[in-house]
Amino acid sequence: MSSRVPDPEAGGGNVLRLSEVFDSLQGEGVSMGKPCRFVRLALCNLHCHYCDTKYTWDFEQFDYDSEVSEASVESLAQQLREAPAQHVVITGGEPLLQQRALAKALERVPGSLFIEIETNGTRVPLPALLERVNQWNVSPKLSSAGDPESLRIKPDALVALRDTGRAYLKVVVTTEADRDEAEQLRERFGFERDRTLLMPEATTPEQLEARSPQVAAWSQALNVRFSSRLHVALWGGRRGT
Ligand code: SF4
Repeated sequence: MSSRVPDPEAGGGNVLRLSEVFDSLQGEGVSMGKPCRFVRLALCNLHCHYCDTKYTWDFEQFDYDSEVSEASVESLAQQLREAPAQHVVITGGEPLLQQRALAKALERVPGSLFIEIETNGTRVPLPALLERVNQWNVSPKLSSAGDPESLRIKPDALVALRDTGRAYLKVVVTTEADRDEAEQLRERFGFERDRTLLMPEATTPEQLEARSPQVAAWSQALNVRFSSRLHVALWGGRRGT
């Protein structure tokens, strides 16, 4: 098994490290239920203990050569142009680790294609992405995820994303301490309540069912949105859904 950690910028911003491409319904956030083409880019700069996509970055546990393929900017653009839905979700891993190549790919797709990016909010997007992306789902990680604050919270990136006016703050919470930390983040970075979502941590339908009522009650009390995890409820969160 390979444990090498590749440089996300290797390839001069012309090659993307790709985990998977699939068609499904958006499972989280304000677009939940929309038919989408998902592009999951490999590699991440964080190490959340609850991460459900460790195959994109944990190459001590997963085999890089089996999990990751290389795609040229043009081949990714072609997969986007051929999407059956007019809606694309770019996720990861952390997709902004490869933003130079991603921006080049997005230049090659029609402006009518709705582009949604899931990010952990630790990288300031390039101007071309700030302009092109229709919706940012920004999920900064809390202390309970396990990484130090210096890695998890990057004020310049969170402010740049907020200032697009097209960003939603989506925070995974399990405990009351998480809830309070999420609310402090929302206040500190000035995300409107209507643009903030709390979401339970769950990788199985049983966990989702058990944890949702509490997180829904907190959402209502804080006057923010609640997000379920549709792919977990419908398909058990299995890969490619
Ligand atoms: S930021 Fe997202 S992809 Fe990266 S480790 Fe955390 S949950 Fe996983």
